[in-house]
Amino acid sequence: MTTIGFIGLGNMGGPMAANLVKAGHQVKGFDLSEATLDQFARAGGVAAQNVNAVLDGAGVVITMLPAGTHVKAVYLGDDGLLAQAQPGTLFIDSSTIDVESARIVADAATKGGMAMIDAPVSGGVGGAEAGSLTFMVGGPDDAFAAAKPYLEIMGKTIVHAGAAGNGQAAKICNNMILGISMIGVSEAFVLAEKLGLDAQSLFDISSTASGQCWSLTTYCPVPGPVPTSPANRDYQAGFTAAMMWKDLKLAQEAAIATGAATPLGAEASALYGVYCNGGDAETDFSGIVRFLRGDG
Ligand code: NAD
Repeated sequence: MTTIGFIGLGNMGGPMAANLVKAGHQVKGFDLSEATLDQFARAGGVAAQNVNAVLDGAGVVITMLPAGTHVKAVYLGDDGLLAQAQPGTLFIDSSTIDVESARIVADAATKGGMAMIDAPVSGGVGGAEAGSLTFMVGGPDDAFAAAKPYLEIMGKTIVHAGAAGNGQAAKICNNMILGISMIGVSEAFVLAEKLGLDAQSLFDISSTASGQCWSLTTYCPVPGPVPTSPANRDYQAGFTAAMMWKDLKLAQEAAIATGAATPLGAEASALYGVYCNGGDAETDFSGIVRFLRGDG
C-alpha cells in the first residue's frame, strides 16, 4: 500500500481517487470545495485541510485541476508542492493544460530533485468511474515506469508519448481532430436533412464508407443511429462544449506559438466559442449540430 496525495477531486479527480482507494492505497486528498472533499471522505479517502497537507507521508502526488494557472499555482513558488515535498516524490499531473505550463512545471520538478510526468486523460467521467481512462504521458522513462502501476489502476490504455509536455501535446492534437470531425459529421447530417436523406441511411452508408470516424460511429450527433450517444438524451453532457472549446483554444495557442498552420482547428475553436457563448457551454459538444442546423 502506498500513501498517495490527490489534489483536485472534481468530476474526474473524485472517481480517479476513489479507484485508488478501492485498490487498497491510502489516499490523502484536498479540494477547495468542502462538498467535494466530503464526498471524497465518504468514498474512503482521507480529507486534508490544505494543498501541502497531502504531502505528509505521500510518495506519489496526483493533481487533476482545471487549467494551467491552477497547476502552476499549486506546484510553484515557496509554498508550492515542489518546494515543500521530500526530494524523490513522484508527481503526476493529469489535468489538461497548455504545453508551455506543463514544461515549466516539469522543469522546476527536475531542478528540485522530483520525478514528474504530465499524464492528461481521455475517456470522460464514465472512463474515470470505470477505471478505463486513456493516459497520454510525457516525461522521463524512469518517472513513467514509476507512475505506470498507479495509472493502470485508473486507466486501461497508458501511452508514453515522449519528453515532458508531450502528453499534453498528444491530448490537444487528439481533441483538435475530435472537434473538427464532430463539426464535419454534424454538417453532413444537416445537409442530408435538407436533401431528404434520412439520418439512419446516411449513418448506415458513412459508418462503413470513407466518412467513418469516432464522431460518427460512437458519438453520432443526431438521435437514433447510436442509442448511447448524448443526442438521444437531449445533449446532456458527456463531454461539455465548454471543455471542447478549452481544448481547441489550447491547440490554437500551441499552433500560434509553434507556427503550425491549423485553419480548420481555428475555425472549430471559433464555432465552439459562438456555441458556448450562446448559452450552450454545459451541453454536450455534439450539440453543435443544433447550432449548425439553426435551431440551437
Ligand atoms: P472539475 O471542475 O470538476 O474539477 C476540478 C477540481 O479542482 C474542482 O473540484 C476544484 O474545486 C478543484 N480545484 C481548483 N483549484 C484548486 C486548488 N488550488 N486546490 C485544490 N483544488 C482545486 O473539473 P474536471 O471535469 O474534473 O476536469 C479536471 C481536468 O480534467 C481538466 O483539466 C479537464 O480539462 C480535464 N478533463 C476533463 C474531462 C471531463 O470529461 N470532465 C475529460 C478529460 C479531461
